[in-house]
Amino acid sequence: MPSWVILEKCDGCKGQDKTACMYICPNDLMVLDKEKMKAFNQEPDLCWECYSCVKICPQQAIDVRGYADFVPMGASAVALRGTEDIMWTIGFRDGTIKRFKFPIRTTPEGKAVPHAGMNTAESDLKKPGLSTEPDSLGFELPTIKK
Ligand code: SF4
Ligand code: SF4
Repeated sequence: MPSWVILEKCDGCKGQDKTACMYICPNDLMVLDKEKMKAFNQEPDLCWECYSCVKICPQQAIDVRGYADFVPMGASAVALRGTEDIMWTIGFRDGTIKRFKFPIRTTPEGKAVPHAGMNTAESDLKKPGLSTEPDSLGFELPTIKK
């Protein structure tokens, strides 16, 4: 089930040109209705249900119906992101509430080193292994003679 915006909670990120959900969506699905100052998912069919917009929204105004490998059927999952951790509040169908807190990466924005600095090349796409190999393995894999 794709993401949807809880209108009562959304404040349009206070009218910034690019809202947090627009910034983070890998599929450019979120847009802001500037008259109503409410965001919405403009193409729900294309939503990957990746939860990025749910996690970044400062108002907890975006929801995605959780899939069964993440929460039990019918449960709600609300994220609250801090500077060092993220808290998930899971609401079960029987009314039980459980909270789970996990650390998050603290690398400053734009400072992540792609592939952890390991060598990669376009030709890696044709290799059977990972693009960072052999650097990430620390040794060359032996080849099988045909
Ligand atoms: S990030 Fe949240 S508050 Fe900001 S525009 Fe999107 S839904 Fe609204
Ligand atoms: S769940 Fe992911 S793909 Fe769907 S709208 Fe949010 S950020 Fe975009």
